[in-house]
Amino acid sequence: MKIKFWGVRGAIPCPGPHTTKYGGNTPCLEVRFIEANRLIIIDAGTGIRELGNSLVANELHKGPIKTQIFLTHTHWDHIIGFPFFTPIYLRETKLTVYGPFTHEDDNLENVVGGQLKYRYFPVRRAELCSEIEYVDLKEERLDIGDGIMVTSKFLNHPLYCMGYRFEYRGKVFCTAFDTEPYRNVFCNDPDDPSYDESMAMEGEQVAREENQRLEDFFSGADLLIHDAQYTQDEYESSKLGWGHSSVEYAIAAARRANVRRLALFHHEPVRTDSELDELSKKYCDTEYSGNIEVFFAREGMEVTF
Ligand SMILES: [Zn+2]
Ligand SMILES: [Zn+2]
Repeated sequence: MKIKFWGVRGAIPCPGPHTTKYGGNTPCLEVRFIEANRLIIIDAGTGIRELGNSLVANELHKGPIKTQIFLTHTHWDHIIGFPFFTPIYLRETKLTVYGPFTHEDDNLENVVGGQLKYRYFPVRRAELCSEIEYVDLKEERLDIGDGIMVTSKFLNHPLYCMGYRFEYRGKVFCTAFDTEPYRNVFCNDPDDPSYDESMAMEGEQVAREENQRLEDFFSGADLLIHDAQYTQDEYESSKLGWGHSSVEYAIAAARRANVRRLALFHHEPVRTDSELDELSKKYCDTEYSGNIEVFFAREGMEVTF
């Protein structure tokens, strides 16, 4: 497999002089299954615009673009690039868009394709001539052909959000963004009048089990791409419940799960290149990361395994 990062930022695109090294585009990954000659895309943040242009410039002459997009969820930063993905305007393109089932009235097609309406954009969905199919996913295991298996798992985020595990020719690639560690939702303070010891203990146990389930999900991965938007200090001081993880937690979870390589991902938009360099010095050193390779994902970076 070969993975290329086209967008690594969380929340909002942040171009400018302070983000030229790590990049300012929001999430998009290109995943190549080389022997099978297959391309899969994860998320349609602003990074997908350049990926689409690259496909049209470099690959269209070999034949029509046929690909699958796996959306982790439908927060803006993960879908906003979709109307700018040039292949959707080409008649021969065949696209399947997978994403988490929502329990609301809007299905995936309405939420993602619904960006193509005059209120938001000058082209309407009805004017697209490519073939686009939408598949609403729950937690499941899919055989998508050529020996590629995909498992989906819900993460801990303010709306339904999927982690993906791809298995192909003995190699494993996993994503876990956007997500936050599960924690006890019941009162933990014995001095609080609402404290109930058995509820508190049960809450702790459920959180432990859910965190373990997620680590089992990405266990043994050759590459794990994990949410690491905050430092632990930032997380504890004001970001609890926002649906994102700290760098420290991502590394500890990856170590427990015997992951080989960990890409820290979904960078905080205000984080400058020099701040990310500083964090790299601190956290990507083997003294901290142990025997796994840890790096902060950068736009344009490729990883092959
Ligand atoms: Zn996000
Ligand atoms: Zn999100």
